[in-house]
Amino acid sequence: MNIEAIDKAFVMGTYARNYTSFVKGVGSKLYSDDGSEFIDFASGIGVNSVGHGNEKLVEAICNQAKKIIHISNLQVIEPQAMLAKKIVELSGYDGKVFFANSGAEANEGAIKLARKYGKEANEHKKYKIITLANSFHGRTITTVKATGQHSFHDASFAPYPDGFKFVETIADIYEAIDDETVGVMLELIQGEGGVYAFDKDEIIALRAFLDEKKLLLIVDEVQTGIYRSGEFLASNFYGITPDIITMAKGLGGGVPIGAFMSRHKDILKAGDHGSTFAGNYLSSSAGLTTLEILSELYDTHKLQETIKYFDEELNELLKDFSDIFESTSGIGLMRGIKVKREYDVGAIVKACMKHQVIILKSGRNTARFLPSLTITKDEIDEGFSRVRIALNDL
Ligand SMILES: *Cc1c(COP(=O)(O)O)cnc(C)c1O
Repeated sequence: MNIEAIDKAFVMGTYARNYTSFVKGVGSKLYSDDGSEFIDFASGIGVNSVGHGNEKLVEAICNQAKKIIHISNLQVIEPQAMLAKKIVELSGYDGKVFFANSGAEANEGAIKLARKYGKEANEHKKYKIITLANSFHGRTITTVKATGQHSFHDASFAPYPDGFKFVETIADIYEAIDDETVGVMLELIQGEGGVYAFDKDEIIALRAFLDEKKLLLIVDEVQTGIYRSGEFLASNFYGITPDIITMAKGLGGGVPIGAFMSRHKDILKAGDHGSTFAGNYLSSSAGLTTLEILSELYDTHKLQETIKYFDEELNELLKDFSDIFESTSGIGLMRGIKVKREYDVGAIVKACMKHQVIILKSGRNTARFLPSLTITKDEIDEGFSRVRIALNDL
């Protein structure tokens, strides 16, 4: 059976795919169908937050699947209610949660909430949302429009929904606000746009300004959330209180789930928004167990130790390969290393794959690391030693 041929014949070719076929994962190690072992520094683009084959998560999913997988949102769902409570408690914010199935969907819901708020809180409806250059908010027709990278706005897919305005920098937001603006949507650390972390003071000042003007701050934490930054939410790390926070990637440990939380708890009412699948027994019990595992990792300071160790290794890499790399970026276990103009980051990612370590590309010239939050020191050592071999082999 030739998987590559079948994939190419029957799956739409929307991804520039690598054809290594993985059959098993343990922690941050992955095994391909020919028995080769890879170190996983990508964790499925920040999704496998508790590693592969995590026993506690697997057991929770299996136990839940044996009992009940799905009932619609027309019934109360115990693990969904418990997961919402846990998200609110871990965040330290006052709010309520809506569940979705993905990051884009969480952002769609956040945009709906913002627009309804914009109508109810003002005499004339406010609806425009300001987003930033190099941002990424998803692939649906609305979230792709919200994404501030023009390469995503292919004319083939037009017309796009109205109501978004792009600016280059945080400082540009202030002038871009008009009397139809309802708020600003941003990632505190831009994931797809080069692993770029915004300046803390600039974000705190923006939050204060938006509060004063009664404008919303929507923080897209689809990638930065769920301890990726070292805190439960990057918003906690930045010390701000957003109006709406969206999450997804790491929340289910690999099971599809998205969510948004808002301090405007009762804007959306029965019938305003919904989802058939979202927050079902399976995904919300996976979410609950994922958060149990990760909050323990945080409380025992193991996460902070891993972050420190990874940071040291990444900076050693920068020092030893200063001919190839320019600087490191990012926060927590969401890290980038910027590649000098003479080098092609795509070729580096490929060379790493050849030497059995998986890393990612971000933006035009950044190599990105999104390891599982449970990665061990040995796995980090082994991964960086393979990255070094790959770089020497360029
Ligand atoms: C991945 C990502 C999304 C989209 O999430 P999907 O689950 O692919 O829809 C949105 N925003 C950010 C910041 C992301 O990193």
